[in-house]
Amino acid sequence: MRLVLLGPPGAGKGTQAERLVAHYNIVPLSTGDMLRGAVAAGSAVGCKVKDIISRGDLVPDDLVVELIAVQIDAPEAGNGFILDGFPRTVGQAEALDRLLKERGLKLDAVIELKVDEAALLARIERRIAEHKAKGHEVRSDDDPAVLKQRIENYRRQTAPVSDYYRKTGALVLIDGMKPMDTVEAEIEQALQKRAMA
Ligand code: AMP
Repeated sequence: MRLVLLGPPGAGKGTQAERLVAHYNIVPLSTGDMLRGAVAAGSAVGCKVKDIISRGDLVPDDLVVELIAVQIDAPEAGNGFILDGFPRTVGQAEALDRLLKERGLKLDAVIELKVDEAALLARIERRIAEHKAKGHEVRSDDDPAVLKQRIENYRRQTAPVSDYYRKTGALVLIDGMKPMDTVEAEIEQALQKRAMA
């Protein structure tokens, strides 16, 4: 199973990605996690992207495309993957198409979690409070001002990705405002329906 999960910050992509990973025995590929890992490791890529991430802006397409290409080729991804946070621009979506085509692979579906923007800030603020209560480190970009920038970037740069996949017929729209278990069940149903079509 090869999936893309789309949705703005706070839409619940992380939670649903975890569930899909367990259900289909596939690997999660989150460009955000990879980039944060690079920053934490102090690598050359990390140094390049640190400030961009802190501002809530997008890092250059070629950089994330390269990260994803390496992961798609890894043996662990043999059974499939779920892309979380990638592609985030139409350029990245086109690059992903090329990458997959060169390898004779295809996406099974692109799941978009639709959420009410007004609810996003509240959700993220709750996530920050929960992380703090558990003594976990809070992400540098989980800050109300940066979050607004991330949502704005999503609207400007990532929303067109949804149109791109609508045109290819891969897009599955799911109401992300429902409880997590309902969202999970609706994703499963939609994937089963596509598999039978
Ligand atoms: P995320 O964990 O997916 O919310 O990503 C955190 C940050 O990493 C984003 O705000 C961007 O700065 C950067 N990032 C992650 N994925 C991408 C991507 N596909 N393209 C460009 N920047 C990305």
